Amino acid sequence: MQGEPDASSFPSGGLRATFEARGYTAWDPTSPVFLNRSGDTVTLCIPTAFVSWTGVALDKKTPLLRSMEVLSEQAMRILKIFGTDKGVSRVVTTLGAEQEYFLVDRNLYFARPDLLACDRTLFGAKPAKGQQLEDHYFGSIPARVLAYMAETERELYRLGVPIKTRHNEVAPGQFEVAPIFETTNVACDHQMLVMETLKKVAPRFGLQCILHEKPFAGINGSGKHNNWSLSTDLGQNLLDPKGETHNNLQFLVFMCAVIRAVDIYADVLRASIASASNDHRLGANEAPPAIMSIFLGDMLSDIVTQVEKGEAKRTLKGGTLVLGASSLPELPRDTGDRNRTSPFAFTGNKFEFRAVGSSQSSAWPNTVLNTMVAESLDFIATQLEKSLGKSPSPAKLNSEVRDLLKKIVKQHKRVIFNGDGYSKEWHHEAEFDRKMPHLRDSVDALPVFKAKKTADLFAKYKVLSRAETESRAVIFMEKYVKQIAIEAEVMVTMARTQFLPSALAHQTRLAEAIAAAEAAGVDVDSQRTALERYVGLVSAMTEATATLMAALEHHADDPFKHAKQVKEEVKPAMSALRSAVDALEGEVSDDLWPVPTYRDILFVK
Ligand code: ADP
Ligand code: MG
Repeated sequence: MQGEPDASSFPSGGLRATFEARGYTAWDPTSPVFLNRSGDTVTLCIPTAFVSWTGVALDKKTPLLRSMEVLSEQAMRILKIFGTDKGVSRVVTTLGAEQEYFLVDRNLYFARPDLLACDRTLFGAKPAKGQQLEDHYFGSIPARVLAYMAETERELYRLGVPIKTRHNEVAPGQFEVAPIFETTNVACDHQMLVMETLKKVAPRFGLQCILHEKPFAGINGSGKHNNWSLSTDLGQNLLDPKGETHNNLQFLVFMCAVIRAVDIYADVLRASIASASNDHRLGANEAPPAIMSIFLGDMLSDIVTQVEKGEAKRTLKGGTLVLGASSLPELPRDTGDRNRTSPFAFTGNKFEFRAVGSSQSSAWPNTVLNTMVAESLDFIATQLEKSLGKSPSPAKLNSEVRDLLKKIVKQHKRVIFNGDGYSKEWHHEAEFDRKMPHLRDSVDALPVFKAKKTADLFAKYKVLSRAETESRAVIFMEKYVKQIAIEAEVMVTMARTQFLPSALAHQTRLAEAIAAAEAAGVDVDSQRTALERYVGLVSAMTEATATLMAALEHHADDPFKHAKQVKEEVKPAMSALRSAVDALEGEVSDDLWPVPTYRDILFVK
């Protein structure tokens, strides 16, 4: 089935001119149709791929489906080598995406032009109480929020989304929802429905749902943890290490393929989650750093060390925990702790890519992940097929696989890191000793999609043509520039039309009070000094506003050049203006301050 929508205004990253308008949609029969209800209107929605008249993929679904097919093909070669392919017709990747989000009272939301236009606050002084006490994280769910969550979940069940988990998150006003995992394509479509439903249901409870990665400075931002694994179509998880892991060579092959892929394509993986909004999160001591390392945990790290030495002889066990009170049960203990500072962590029977942004589609990072792992499986399968020949003995299979894994571990183990990903020492060690890429922000990261290495990878496996890859680079960079330009414009407007008038009204009040006191013959020297200091703060704000306006004047047509200018001139000018306004927030009379403060927005439940 085919549709023909207008594709003219859809971002194409230079693939087509605006007048070249024809586009096609193709039904994706692997993703269930659903009914979108709004009031009395019910719309039948059919997940589709979207391509231009020339056949290039404009969407995120087409490349994702291609990447899943490539991965299946390569993974099947591995199963064949181990003789475990019987009855298996394909391998799929699975995804369970945890979604973090904020809820704010809708009336307060409407009173903040920055939240309304940008989904984040561009101003706001730090409140006395933030998340220091962790009392929101470990507290109970507020009644209004719980009612909202339950209604959201009901709506999602009706859409066929298997939502399961709900809880408070670290920051005040922050929450999380997670589904049961599904095949990646369906999970990505369902993830879009999760975001849409979260937004749609909130107003019924007088709430606004915010999906931005960093709506508030000084407290944690939101991510979308991407739990990813490989499974046969019979449901066997290929990343399940099972009992005696050191003898589970097939698992070790899949694990080492991921290790190799993340090491070689760390920069592409990093770039797949780059955006203006996620820049606020990565490396900001609350979210994983922008260095793509892998956490394996004690048991697997021990096995990897054994593999590198040549012979893996043991699997560490977690044992049990005795709690010391006879009424409490003995707890089975996992073989290793968890690590929330790692961007890419093994969590028992899957990898959790924790650096994905809360507002982004899951499709793109999974396309990248699938393709790079497919390349790794291809490499391993090719090596083994060559060295094993036809019908090798089990002993030969065993020794050839162990030899190859030994080499892979030796070459790529630098990517494994089990320590504190937030620490400065690690950033230094990763960058200077291990020579791992550290692409701090989108301006550093997005050009990776223009590099030959990246285009070669996608082209080799026919996930994206060279032109399609290049177009993604342009689209993402353009979006980066536009998003920050909008924010900067909103800042200028708020500064000029809201903060400056309030600040001047307060200034007048102070000046008049001092003049009146003076007229009454009272000594007002210290107040006059305070007024002078205050006037200085107001001037600092007007100067910072002018500087930002000047920075916005510049224009380079090439989005990559423009982005550099945004990073070097616009963003610092935005920070300066924010500091100036936030300083005034602590001075201006509460009744004159024109917008709700963090204290109001974060704590009205
Ligand atoms: P946590 O917050 O402790 O990481 P959650 O329960 O919030 O755990 O999220 C874990 C996610 O991982 C869920 O969406 C779950 O369905 C998903 N998951 C579990 N097993 C797999 C798997 N084999 N492949 C992909 N995702 C998985
Ligand atoms: Mg979770």
